[in-house]
Amino acid sequence: MDLFEYQGKELFARVGVKVPRGRMATTTAEAWSAAAELGGRVVVKAQVQVGGRGKAGGIKLAEGPDEAAARASEILGMDIKGHVVHRLWIEQASEIAAEYYASFTLDRAAKKHLALVSAKGGMDIEAVAAESPEALARLHIDPVIGLTNWQASELVYRAGLDRATARKSAAALRSLYDAFVSLDCDLVEVNPLILTGEGEILALDAKVTLDSNAFFRHPDFESFREAFTVDPIEAMARERDLNFIKLDGSVGIIGNGAGLVMSTLDLVSLVGGSASNFLDVGGGAGEETMKSALEVLTHDPSVRVVLINIFGGITRCDQVTGGIIEAARILDLPWPLVVRLDGTNAEQARVMLAEVASDRIVPAATMREAAEKAVALAGEG
Ligand code: GDP
Ligand code: MN
Repeated sequence: MDLFEYQGKELFARVGVKVPRGRMATTTAEAWSAAAELGGRVVVKAQVQVGGRGKAGGIKLAEGPDEAAARASEILGMDIKGHVVHRLWIEQASEIAAEYYASFTLDRAAKKHLALVSAKGGMDIEAVAAESPEALARLHIDPVIGLTNWQASELVYRAGLDRATARKSAAALRSLYDAFVSLDCDLVEVNPLILTGEGEILALDAKVTLDSNAFFRHPDFESFREAFTVDPIEAMARERDLNFIKLDGSVGIIGNGAGLVMSTLDLVSLVGGSASNFLDVGGGAGEETMKSALEVLTHDPSVRVVLINIFGGITRCDQVTGGIIEAARILDLPWPLVVRLDGTNAEQARVMLAEVASDRIVPAATMREAAEKAVALAGEG
């Protein structure tokens, strides 16, 4: 799970990585009070999960609360590469003497952690890697041993960070690595990690990806999810353990397996339609899951028809079909269903479907036929 900058910094502060003091704000009034509380110069930062906010005008300095409120009103609602700004992070402005880059990730091929450090921070790290790869110091870290003091110092030296403050930089790298490990992250990237005028090392930006498989060790991380749940239908689907993503079209899609659902979306587009969602019911879906998925779609007013595409492996087509028929009976579905099934027990499922086939439940023999029928029923294509 990718965190917003302010969430990453909140975690950094908790585990001892130095960050500027800051406050979250969602309105200009909150931005004003945050700036007043922090005092002095502040930076108003758009909280969107995309890089290059600075260049896009989503990061602005302000001299005090009034200016912070003015900058906040400019940034709130701004569209940064397709991400609309709903939240701001207001933090004490830092005096920047140097901008570094530091990241820790998992190198699956090497079965080790990988540290990347550079004195060329603040800019696009891909550009640094392409234009001056020697400026990017790399080090594989044995996860059992961890990042030792001398390794951290060597990284600082190789990356060409300021010599006079090398000890502090090495300590900062070690605390970032500790954060990466103790918080069970897939990625910790800080760009820029800065050297301040007073010789302190601070994380000025934070890109943190948490490993959701480790959430059982961090029950409090669940609260981070709330910040992402803007769409009420997505929230409902999440409560039911369904993988749902809202899209723009009118053909509701239900399938099992991400790959199958993606190719269903492609086929719908290919025959001239547009999907209203991505919904993967996962492996081993039975009656209950099917009912649950259909019920979620009934809350989406843009759906005009639902295309169900199931491949039976562990999932048994006859069970799924039972669920579909049952759901259609009790839920009073507002739209027709087009159903295509193949795989385990597909024969039985087709017989069941043929018995109930009508203008409300439309069986289809192939994916292509299903897509064409659904798109026609949606009045598209
Ligand atoms: P990004 O553009 O989305 O990566 O956002 P960053 O948080 O990395 O900020 C971009 C740039 O804004 C940084 O590299 C800094 O140059 C500048 N910036 C951010 N915070 C401060 C601050 O407190 N003081 C100053 N002077 N510049 C800042
Ligand atoms: Mn950055």
